[in-house]
Amino acid sequence: MWKVTNENTRPYLIEFRNYVIEPLLLSISNHITYKTFSDFNEYISETFPKNQNELLSYVVNKKHQGFKIIDLVADVNHSTIANQLSLYSKQTKQLDNLDFNITEESVDVELSKLFRVFFYELFFNDEFIWKKIKDENFSRKDFHEKFKKENSLSICPYCDIDTIISDGNIVIEHFLPKSKFPFLSMHPNNLISCCQSCNGPYGKKTDYSIPIANPYTQQIGDFVSFDIDKYNHKVKLNAIASIEIDNYLDLMQLKQRYGKDEIFEQIDLKSKVIFKQWRRLESLGFNIETHSLIMEDLNFRKESLTFAMKSICKEKVLYDNYKKMNKE
Ligand SMILES: [Zn+2]
Repeated sequence: MWKVTNENTRPYLIEFRNYVIEPLLLSISNHITYKTFSDFNEYISETFPKNQNELLSYVVNKKHQGFKIIDLVADVNHSTIANQLSLYSKQTKQLDNLDFNITEESVDVELSKLFRVFFYELFFNDEFIWKKIKDENFSRKDFHEKFKKENSLSICPYCDIDTIISDGNIVIEHFLPKSKFPFLSMHPNNLISCCQSCNGPYGKKTDYSIPIANPYTQQIGDFVSFDIDKYNHKVKLNAIASIEIDNYLDLMQLKQRYGKDEIFEQIDLKSKVIFKQWRRLESLGFNIETHSLIMEDLNFRKESLTFAMKSICKEKVLYDNYKKMNKE
């Protein structure tokens, strides 16, 4: 629900696009269309200057479970390769422009494998490749560290429930799932650090509806209301006047996840602490600024359930009820 940016890792991923993804896609297309060389290795070494040739030769011959990129090149469907290249360009450009309302289109099986298995799984953690491209190492762990630092976040930007700080959690999530949008597996605007839950079966679904809100363009939490049902010990989430936000809540299954008893207990406890703080400030004569002081404090602390707290604080009536309750 937190708005995020990803400027720190963007240069790495853009270099990867320029030095690996695009030259390789174009080479595969040329090689299978014109068949100038019998062998893809030969094509690479004849086409590129020495430095790039070394990088691409390494890339196409690196084994993954006994399988190399040169093995899949021959199986790419040559009659659809031109369309596939324009699909790659179209989707990449859309996401460059932070347009996440991308419709799913069919991607060649081998090209999908190229992006998901080789680019994302294998090469993201390959020291040789990053040293060649950027003169320094980069990995999924580095992505995670840089992302957390840039956003000063310890809380999951998707759900605002769990943390992303433990060493064991280096989950990088694809907002547009790589199973459906393999061409966007390495796109800087599609990668995001999140908690284990959001990445697991109770978190983000793979099917979703567009238009959809996303954390790169919007602080989604500010457009959600959290209604507290004290009788049934439940929290009810609602999108504030927007189909994009509602589709986001649905994608992340947040209505169900916030509906759990434990979440109610936490929100109830946290709100009691805040209202106490509020009363103390009012008793010190901060009447007018109290609300903004509390909000500022919540924004600054960036603790879990911040948006639930902010939403509750907007409801002055709840606070007045709380005061009444405490007097009784
Ligand atoms: Zn999460």
